[in-house]
Amino acid sequence: MNHLLEIRDLEVRFALRSGDLTAIDRIGFTLEKGERMGLVGESGAGKSVTGFSILNLISKPGYIAGGSIFFRGKDLAALSPEEMRSVRGNRISMIFQDPMMTLNPVMTIGDQMTESLMAHRKISRASAEALAVEKLQAVHIPSPEARLRQYPHEFSGGMRQRIVIAIALLTDPDLIIADEPTTALDVTIQAEIMDLLLELCTLKDMAMILITHDLGVVSQVTEKIAVMYAGKIVETGSTENIVARPQHPYTQGLIRALPGSREPGSRLYQIPGSMPNLSAIPKGCAFHPRCERAEEVCRREVPELLKRGTFQRLVACHLVGV
Ligand code: SF4
Ligand code: MG
Repeated sequence: MNHLLEIRDLEVRFALRSGDLTAIDRIGFTLEKGERMGLVGESGAGKSVTGFSILNLISKPGYIAGGSIFFRGKDLAALSPEEMRSVRGNRISMIFQDPMMTLNPVMTIGDQMTESLMAHRKISRASAEALAVEKLQAVHIPSPEARLRQYPHEFSGGMRQRIVIAIALLTDPDLIIADEPTTALDVTIQAEIMDLLLELCTLKDMAMILITHDLGVVSQVTEKIAVMYAGKIVETGSTENIVARPQHPYTQGLIRALPGSREPGSRLYQIPGSMPNLSAIPKGCAFHPRCERAEEVCRREVPELLKRGTFQRLVACHLVGV
């Protein structure tokens, strides 16, 4: 049976005058109908680039240099720009960190929702409005009919993100890609938005790729995780397994850095150093300059993403038992 989404050996590069830089280095994963996956890692790991590649929205000088992206059995790379637009408008929706990236400040919410609908489907304004009201109800916006006549600035940040989610839902997509959807919001609102996304995915059997630097958020909402570092997946498996017993030193660091894992009175842990620049990815294991366990082999050889030991997951680390 086909997966909803199957990414194989995806490679994304940036063509610079000084030569090509690899941003995504042959990653692969699958997603089933209704399944929720977290793409986790610090900023610069390649998470957003992965999301954009699925929608073929990589902007120049970036380009997909290899691999394939199958969605509902079709290779997205082989689609014409028009077919791709239709997939993007109907089957896959994306939500960004800043709601104002999606919302037009000088249009009412109602006009934005109905125009987006009428662009993708041949329906009347009246039915488009009825659908817009239905979707605003689905994201728990009170008195949606009145709200349709308001502008984005008349809503709070959390409400704006709800509206963006309502817009993403207009076409009943099979997959929603949410890129740091709560990072710009207050902590209390963050939890509400995550609960809402989880509720909608469950209700509509919609798959989700949740892109975030926050493993805490991912552990509440997703069923599986792919941890990314310097353009590669370094650990992937079920969320429950990975959060309970992370194997890759980078994943272990991310978990230790969660506020909840701090010992009372101690300072919050931080992984030393920072994500390497694309132009200076260390040889061998890219994480080695920051890794407390690094050995000679780590500086020399790139660890492959393999099932290691008895762990129900894939790990790219020389020191995790094979
Ligand atoms: Fe650390 Fe070596 Fe494992 Fe890389 S391969 S994570 S440097 S122990
Ligand atoms: Mg990003």
